[in-house]
Amino acid sequence: MSASASESPTPPRVLLTHHLRQLKLPTVLREYEKVALEAARDGQDHIRYLLRLVELELIDRERRMVERRIRAARFPATKSFDTFDFAAIPSLNKPLTLELARCEYVVARENIIALGNSGTGKTHVCLALGLAACQRGLSVAFTTAAGLVHQLMEARDEKRLLRLQAQLSTVKLLIIDELGYVPLSQTGAELFFEIFSQRHERGSTIVTSNLPFDEWTSVFGNQRLTGALLDRLTHHVHILEMNGESYRLKQSKARRRKEPAPSAEPPVNPETGEITPT
Ligand code: ADP
Ligand code: MG
Repeated sequence: MSASASESPTPPRVLLTHHLRQLKLPTVLREYEKVALEAARDGQDHIRYLLRLVELELIDRERRMVERRIRAARFPATKSFDTFDFAAIPSLNKPLTLELARCEYVVARENIIALGNSGTGKTHVCLALGLAACQRGLSVAFTTAAGLVHQLMEARDEKRLLRLQAQLSTVKLLIIDELGYVPLSQTGAELFFEIFSQRHERGSTIVTSNLPFDEWTSVFGNQRLTGALLDRLTHHVHILEMNGESYRLKQSKARRRKEPAPSAEPPVNPETGEITPT
Protein backbone atom coordinates (compact mmCIF):
# COMPACT_ATOMS: atom_id res chain seq x y z
CA MET A 1 0.00 0.00 0.00
CA SER A 2 1.29 3.45 -0.84
CA ALA A 3 1.67 6.06 1.82
CA SER A 4 -0.93 8.37 0.32
CA ALA A 5 -3.59 5.64 0.33
CA SER A 6 -3.17 5.14 4.04
CA GLU A 7 -3.77 8.85 4.76
CA SER A 8 -7.37 9.46 5.69
CA PRO A 9 -9.11 9.21 2.29
CA THR A 10 -12.07 11.43 1.43
CA PRO A 11 -15.16 9.51 2.50
CA PRO A 12 -17.03 8.17 -0.57
CA ARG A 13 -20.19 9.96 0.48
CA VAL A 14 -18.44 13.33 0.29
CA LEU A 15 -16.98 12.46 -3.11
CA LEU A 16 -20.34 11.28 -4.39
CA THR A 17 -22.00 14.51 -3.27
CA HIS A 18 -19.29 16.51 -4.99
CA HIS A 19 -19.50 14.56 -8.24
CA LEU A 20 -23.30 14.64 -8.38
CA ARG A 21 -23.19 18.41 -7.92
CA GLN A 22 -20.57 18.70 -10.63
CA LEU A 23 -22.71 16.60 -12.97
CA LYS A 24 -25.79 18.66 -12.04
CA LEU A 25 -27.84 15.74 -10.81
CA PRO A 26 -29.61 17.34 -7.81
CA THR A 27 -32.43 14.81 -7.72
CA VAL A 28 -30.09 11.82 -7.64
CA LEU A 29 -28.21 13.53 -4.81
CA ARG A 30 -31.39 14.21 -2.86
CA GLU A 31 -32.97 10.80 -3.40
CA TYR A 32 -30.21 8.20 -3.61
CA GLU A 33 -30.37 7.10 0.00
CA LYS A 34 -34.12 6.97 0.27
CA VAL A 35 -34.41 5.07 -3.03
CA ALA A 36 -31.65 2.68 -1.88
CA LEU A 37 -33.63 1.85 1.25
CA GLU A 38 -36.74 1.23 -0.84
CA ALA A 39 -34.78 -0.92 -3.31
CA ALA A 40 -33.34 -3.00 -0.45
CA ARG A 41 -36.77 -3.40 1.13
CA ASP A 42 -38.29 -4.52 -2.20
CA GLY A 43 -35.34 -6.74 -3.13
CA GLN A 44 -34.58 -4.79 -6.32
CA ASP A 45 -31.23 -5.24 -8.04
CA HIS A 46 -28.77 -2.43 -8.73
CA ILE A 47 -30.03 -1.90 -12.27
CA ARG A 48 -33.55 -1.17 -11.08
CA TYR A 49 -32.16 1.04 -8.34
CA LEU A 50 -30.15 3.08 -10.83
CA LEU A 51 -33.04 3.21 -13.28
CA ARG A 52 -35.38 4.59 -10.61
CA LEU A 53 -32.89 7.31 -9.68
CA VAL A 54 -32.29 8.31 -13.29
CA GLU A 55 -36.02 8.43 -13.97
CA LEU A 56 -36.56 10.73 -11.00
CA GLU A 57 -33.84 13.03 -12.26
CA LEU A 58 -35.40 13.13 -15.73
CA ILE A 59 -38.88 13.92 -14.39
CA ASP A 60 -37.50 16.73 -12.23
CA ARG A 61 -35.38 18.08 -15.03
CA GLU A 62 -38.40 18.29 -17.33
CA ARG A 63 -40.42 20.06 -14.65
CA ARG A 64 -37.63 22.58 -14.06
CA MET A 65 -37.33 23.20 -17.81
CA VAL A 66 -41.08 23.86 -18.15
CA GLU A 67 -40.97 26.25 -15.18
CA ARG A 68 -38.04 28.06 -16.80
CA ARG A 69 -39.91 28.35 -20.10
CA ILE A 70 -42.98 29.75 -18.34
CA ARG A 71 -40.91 32.36 -16.48
CA ALA A 72 -39.07 33.33 -19.67
CA ALA A 73 -42.36 33.73 -21.60
CA ARG A 74 -43.47 36.56 -19.25
CA PHE A 75 -47.15 35.70 -19.37
CA PRO A 76 -49.26 38.38 -17.65
CA ALA A 77 -51.37 35.57 -16.10
CA THR A 78 -51.50 31.79 -16.14
CA LYS A 79 -54.50 30.56 -18.12
CA SER A 80 -55.22 27.16 -19.56
CA PHE A 81 -57.90 25.41 -21.60
CA ASP A 82 -59.05 23.65 -18.41
CA THR A 83 -60.72 26.89 -17.34
CA PHE A 84 -61.95 27.91 -20.79
CA ASP A 85 -65.65 27.53 -21.48
CA PHE A 86 -65.99 26.82 -25.21
CA ALA A 87 -69.79 26.98 -24.99
CA ALA A 88 -69.50 30.70 -24.20
CA ILE A 89 -67.99 31.46 -27.61
CA PRO A 90 -69.79 29.45 -30.33
CA SER A 91 -67.94 31.21 -33.19
CA LEU A 92 -64.63 29.63 -32.03
CA ASN A 93 -63.74 26.37 -33.77
CA LYS A 94 -63.25 24.09 -30.76
CA PRO A 95 -61.73 21.04 -32.55
CA LEU A 96 -59.22 23.29 -34.32
CA THR A 97 -58.33 25.07 -31.07
CA LEU A 98 -57.77 21.80 -29.21
CA GLU A 99 -55.72 20.51 -32.11
CA LEU A 100 -53.59 23.66 -31.93
CA ALA A 101 -53.09 23.04 -28.20
CA ARG A 102 -51.02 20.01 -29.27
CA CYS A 103 -48.52 22.49 -30.69
CA GLU A 104 -47.79 20.77 -33.98
CA TYR A 105 -48.25 24.13 -35.72
CA VAL A 106 -45.20 25.39 -33.80
CA VAL A 107 -43.06 22.55 -35.12
CA ALA A 108 -44.43 23.28 -38.63
CA ARG A 109 -43.75 27.03 -38.10
CA GLU A 110 -47.33 28.01 -38.83
CA ASN A 111 -49.07 31.09 -37.47
CA ILE A 112 -52.35 31.75 -35.69
CA ILE A 113 -54.51 34.84 -35.85
CA ALA A 114 -57.35 35.25 -33.37
CA LEU A 115 -59.86 37.90 -34.37
CA GLY A 116 -62.82 39.21 -32.44
CA ASN A 117 -64.31 41.97 -30.38
CA SER A 118 -63.21 42.77 -26.85
CA GLY A 119 -63.76 40.33 -24.00
CA THR A 120 -64.29 37.17 -26.04
CA GLY A 121 -61.33 35.25 -24.63
CA LYS A 122 -58.61 35.99 -27.20
CA THR A 123 -55.98 36.69 -24.55
CA HIS A 124 -57.13 33.66 -22.56
CA VAL A 125 -56.77 31.40 -25.61
CA CYS A 126 -53.33 32.68 -26.57
CA LEU A 127 -52.12 32.37 -22.97
CA ALA A 128 -53.39 28.79 -22.93
CA LEU A 129 -51.65 28.06 -26.24
CA GLY A 130 -48.48 29.63 -24.86
CA LEU A 131 -48.63 27.51 -21.73
CA ALA A 132 -49.19 24.38 -23.80
CA ALA A 133 -46.08 25.21 -25.85
CA CYS A 134 -43.99 25.73 -22.68
CA GLN A 135 -45.20 22.36 -21.40
CA ARG A 136 -43.88 20.78 -24.56
CA GLY A 137 -40.50 22.37 -24.00
CA LEU A 138 -40.82 25.05 -26.69
CA SER A 139 -39.53 28.58 -26.10
CA VAL A 140 -42.27 31.20 -25.93
CA ALA A 141 -42.41 34.99 -25.62
CA PHE A 142 -45.59 36.89 -24.83
CA THR A 143 -46.08 40.58 -25.53
CA THR A 144 -48.68 43.05 -26.71
CA ALA A 145 -48.32 44.88 -30.03
CA ALA A 146 -47.83 48.19 -28.22
CA GLY A 147 -45.42 46.58 -25.74
CA LEU A 148 -43.39 45.01 -28.53
CA VAL A 149 -43.02 48.30 -30.40
CA HIS A 150 -42.08 50.05 -27.18
CA GLN A 151 -39.44 47.40 -26.48
CA LEU A 152 -38.06 47.68 -30.03
CA MET A 153 -37.88 51.49 -29.94
CA GLU A 154 -36.18 51.42 -26.56
CA ALA A 155 -33.67 48.83 -27.78
CA ARG A 156 -32.96 50.94 -30.85
CA ASP A 157 -32.31 54.04 -28.72
CA GLU A 158 -29.99 52.02 -26.48
CA LYS A 159 -28.18 50.47 -29.45
CA ARG A 160 -29.20 46.92 -28.66
CA LEU A 161 -31.81 46.49 -31.39
CA LEU A 162 -29.91 43.73 -33.18
CA ARG A 163 -29.66 41.70 -30.00
CA LEU A 164 -33.36 42.03 -29.28
CA GLN A 165 -34.24 41.19 -32.89
CA ALA A 166 -32.05 38.11 -32.70
CA GLN A 167 -33.80 37.02 -29.50
CA LEU A 168 -37.24 37.61 -30.99
CA SER A 169 -36.44 35.79 -34.19
CA THR A 170 -35.21 32.63 -32.46
CA VAL A 171 -38.05 32.10 -29.99
CA LYS A 172 -40.19 29.20 -31.24
CA LEU A 173 -43.50 30.90 -30.48
CA LEU A 174 -43.99 34.65 -30.33
CA ILE A 175 -47.39 35.78 -29.06
CA ILE A 176 -48.42 39.33 -29.92
CA ASP A 177 -51.64 40.26 -28.19
CA GLU A 178 -53.91 43.24 -28.84
CA LEU A 179 -52.96 44.43 -32.27
CA GLY A 180 -55.32 47.23 -33.20
CA TYR A 181 -56.04 49.11 -30.00
CA VAL A 182 -53.15 51.53 -30.49
CA PRO A 183 -52.09 52.89 -33.89
CA LEU A 184 -48.34 52.59 -34.42
CA SER A 185 -45.97 55.36 -35.41
CA GLN A 186 -44.22 54.99 -38.76
CA THR A 187 -40.98 53.84 -37.10
CA GLY A 188 -42.97 51.57 -34.81
CA ALA A 189 -44.75 50.00 -37.76
CA GLU A 190 -41.46 49.46 -39.62
CA LEU A 191 -39.80 47.83 -36.60
CA PHE A 192 -42.86 45.67 -36.09
CA PHE A 193 -42.79 44.60 -39.72
CA GLU A 194 -39.09 43.70 -39.51
CA ILE A 195 -39.87 41.20 -36.74
CA PHE A 196 -42.35 39.49 -39.03
CA SER A 197 -39.89 39.32 -41.93
CA GLN A 198 -37.19 37.94 -39.66
CA ARG A 199 -39.49 35.31 -38.20
CA HIS A 200 -41.15 34.32 -41.45
CA GLU A 201 -40.93 30.51 -41.82
CA ARG A 202 -38.48 30.41 -38.90
CA GLY A 203 -40.93 30.33 -36.02
CA SER A 204 -44.62 30.58 -35.18
CA THR A 205 -46.38 33.79 -34.35
CA ILE A 206 -49.79 34.27 -32.76
CA VAL A 207 -51.47 37.62 -33.27
CA THR A 208 -54.74 38.64 -31.67
CA SER A 209 -56.73 41.62 -32.90
CA ASN A 210 -60.06 43.31 -32.40
CA LEU A 211 -59.87 44.52 -36.01
CA PRO A 212 -60.76 42.57 -39.18
CA PHE A 213 -57.90 42.38 -41.71
CA ASP A 214 -59.24 45.16 -43.92
CA GLU A 215 -58.83 47.59 -41.03
CA TRP A 216 -55.23 46.69 -40.18
CA THR A 217 -53.97 49.52 -42.37
CA SER A 218 -55.31 51.93 -39.75
CA VAL A 219 -52.83 50.43 -37.25
CA PHE A 220 -49.77 50.54 -39.51
CA GLY A 221 -50.74 53.73 -41.36
CA ASN A 222 -49.33 52.30 -44.57
CA GLN A 223 -51.13 50.08 -47.03
CA ARG A 224 -48.07 48.56 -48.66
CA LEU A 225 -46.45 47.60 -45.37
CA THR A 226 -49.75 46.16 -44.09
CA GLY A 227 -50.09 44.11 -47.28
CA ALA A 228 -46.55 42.76 -46.98
CA LEU A 229 -47.05 41.92 -43.31
CA LEU A 230 -50.35 40.14 -43.92
CA ASP A 231 -48.75 38.27 -46.79
CA ARG A 232 -46.11 36.81 -44.47
CA LEU A 233 -48.39 36.27 -41.52
CA THR A 234 -51.13 34.53 -43.50
CA HIS A 235 -48.82 32.35 -45.64
CA HIS A 236 -49.35 29.39 -43.27
CA VAL A 237 -52.07 30.43 -40.87
CA HIS A 238 -54.90 29.15 -38.71
CA ILE A 239 -57.61 31.71 -38.11
CA LEU A 240 -59.61 31.65 -34.90
CA GLU A 241 -62.88 33.54 -35.24
CA MET A 242 -63.76 34.91 -31.83
CA ASN A 243 -66.61 37.30 -32.30
CA GLY A 244 -69.33 37.11 -29.72
CA GLU A 245 -70.69 38.51 -26.52
CA SER A 246 -68.05 39.76 -24.10
CA TYR A 247 -67.46 37.14 -21.40
CA ARG A 248 -66.87 39.82 -18.78
CA LEU A 249 -70.10 41.58 -19.65
CA LYS A 250 -72.06 38.34 -19.62
CA GLN A 251 -70.67 37.44 -16.20
CA SER A 252 -71.42 40.80 -14.65
CA LYS A 253 -74.97 40.63 -16.08
CA ALA A 254 -75.39 37.17 -14.57
CA ARG A 255 -74.09 38.43 -11.22
CA ARG A 256 -76.53 41.33 -11.28
CA ARG A 257 -79.40 38.95 -11.97
CA LYS A 258 -78.45 36.87 -8.92
CA GLU A 259 -78.07 39.81 -6.55
CA PRO A 260 -81.30 41.25 -5.12
CA ALA A 261 -82.29 44.53 -6.73
CA PRO A 262 -80.95 47.41 -4.64
CA SER A 263 -83.82 48.84 -2.64
CA ALA A 264 -84.34 52.47 -1.73
CA GLU A 265 -85.56 51.49 1.76
CA PRO A 266 -82.97 51.25 4.54
CA PRO A 267 -82.21 47.62 5.47
CA VAL A 268 -84.41 46.38 8.31
CA ASN A 269 -83.60 43.49 10.62
CA PRO A 270 -86.54 41.12 10.02
CA GLU A 271 -86.46 39.82 13.62
CA THR A 272 -86.20 43.03 15.59
CA GLY A 273 -87.61 45.46 13.04
CA GLU A 274 -84.57 47.63 13.72
CA ILE A 275 -82.99 49.66 10.92
CA THR A 276 -79.47 48.29 10.43
CA PRO A 277 -76.83 50.91 9.85
CA THR A 278 -74.94 50.46 6.53
P1 ADP B 1 -60.13 39.41 -24.96
O1 ADP B 1 -58.65 39.22 -24.94
O2 ADP B 1 -60.78 38.79 -26.15
O3 ADP B 1 -60.53 40.84 -24.78
P2 ADP B 1 -59.95 37.98 -22.47
O4 ADP B 1 -59.25 36.75 -22.86
O5 ADP B 1 -59.13 39.02 -21.80
O6 ADP B 1 -60.71 38.62 -23.71
O7 ADP B 1 -61.20 37.59 -21.57
C1 ADP B 1 -61.71 38.45 -20.56
C2 ADP B 1 -61.87 37.66 -19.26
O8 ADP B 1 -62.87 36.67 -19.41
C3 ADP B 1 -60.61 36.92 -18.88
O9 ADP B 1 -60.53 36.89 -17.47
C4 ADP B 1 -60.83 35.52 -19.42
O10 ADP B 1 -60.13 34.53 -18.66
C5 ADP B 1 -62.33 35.35 -19.30
N1 ADP B 1 -62.90 34.57 -20.39
C6 ADP B 1 -63.19 35.00 -21.62
N2 ADP B 1 -63.77 34.03 -22.35
C7 ADP B 1 -63.83 32.95 -21.56
C8 ADP B 1 -64.33 31.62 -21.73
N3 ADP B 1 -64.91 31.23 -22.87
N4 ADP B 1 -64.24 30.76 -20.69
C9 ADP B 1 -63.67 31.17 -19.51
N5 ADP B 1 -63.20 32.40 -19.28
C10 ADP B 1 -63.27 33.30 -20.29
MG1 MG C 1 -57.18 40.62 -24.70
